[in-house]
Amino acid sequence: MKNIVILGSTGSIGRQTLEVIDLHRDKFKLIALSARSNVDLLIEQAKKFRPQYVVITNGNTDKVRKELAGEKIEILEGYDHLSTIASLPQVDIVVTALVGFAGLIPTLTAIEHGKDIALANKETLVVAGEIVTRKAAENNVKILPVDSEHSAIFQCLMGEENSAVEKIYLTASGGPFRGMSRNDLQHITKEQALKHPNWSMGNKITIDSATLMNKGLEAIEARWLFGLRPEQIDIIIHPQSIIHSLVQFVDGSIKAQMGLPDMRLPIQLALSYPERLPNDFPRFNFMDYPQLTFEKPDTQVFRCLAIALEAMRKGGNYPCVMNAANEIAVYAFLSDQIGFLDIADIVEETLNKAEYIQSPDIDTYLECDRKARETAEQIILKKS
Ligand code: NDP
Ligand code: MG
Repeated sequence: MKNIVILGSTGSIGRQTLEVIDLHRDKFKLIALSARSNVDLLIEQAKKFRPQYVVITNGNTDKVRKELAGEKIEILEGYDHLSTIASLPQVDIVVTALVGFAGLIPTLTAIEHGKDIALANKETLVVAGEIVTRKAAENNVKILPVDSEHSAIFQCLMGEENSAVEKIYLTASGGPFRGMSRNDLQHITKEQALKHPNWSMGNKITIDSATLMNKGLEAIEARWLFGLRPEQIDIIIHPQSIIHSLVQFVDGSIKAQMGLPDMRLPIQLALSYPERLPNDFPRFNFMDYPQLTFEKPDTQVFRCLAIALEAMRKGGNYPCVMNAANEIAVYAFLSDQIGFLDIADIVEETLNKAEYIQSPDIDTYLECDRKARETAEQIILKKS
């Protein structure tokens, strides 16, 4: 039996994690859940799974207390309690399914308490991958990837020596605007950007997929997860999202991991590893996909990808600054303050204004994140 905590249980990954836990109640026990503000769903989840704790970071806690009054569930309020549930002694694995920089501190706390991490929150590794992976190694903690590309690489590496890896290819669907020109993208609406062709995900990552920033974040995530040099990571557009990523070895052999786009697969593997559990999720049928195709990403049009790859190469605090500016820009786009193409401009301008710091500690990252958000907000104000 594995005892599990989900940070961000009301989101897309959080809900699918609960589906997986529900399928394997004999293997997984839910200890704690958290939501930011969607208390109605949190209450429903708590009634169904009866965890020992729930955390609300920014919502109507009184309603939760009232609705769960008869249950033996401890109700905690505030962001700091994400770290409380991530470090409970009875917990084996923490699923980091919250979005953005907010994932960093609770993930680090879980690692410091020796909990394995099922990592969906890629921003944690983008911001502070060097520190997070070092602390995981020091505490003998496994970071098990939930992101489908990284789960694919992880599976391709099973039974292989890391030193035998020549390079990896991260696949990308290309998002809803694949093949479009900058001109076409000038007047894109958020409704258009939120329609992903292959995956149904939370709003932030869906916009990141449309700008291709998501693939840049994933390159940085892969760098830290698998101990790669930036030049060992390549991006290839694969519109069908069937090959989830590939590893090329020193002898030229390539392994790929395939399957239908269904996040429950990587989530289940991250929870059950090293075991593989049976399930009845839909199976791949070759005749539905007679062609798997590949293209080069267009970094002239999708500049966020080029910016992110450059930030990866520079390292230091640049990925942290980039991530903060991107979060601000994406939410500004989602609230109709800026246009789609402005996202890349804001991220770039924020990076240009930031001081480069080669080896920041956690407090420095917190400060860089705060400053970058301020800078990005000022740039947005000037634009509007
Ligand atoms: P969602 O927006 O759907 O869900 C986010 C969850 O985190 C919700 O439970 C939300 O609570 C909570 N949350 C959001 N902000 C905060 C905050 N500041 N503090 C505390 N809790 C917060 O996101 P996704 O599930 O799509 O993505 C989660 C992570 O997984 C992201 O890092 C994403 O990049 C990654 N990922 C997602 C994939 C997907 O298929 N969705 C695929 C691969 C990676 P509430 O609902 O109450 O607001
Ligand atoms: Mg992914």
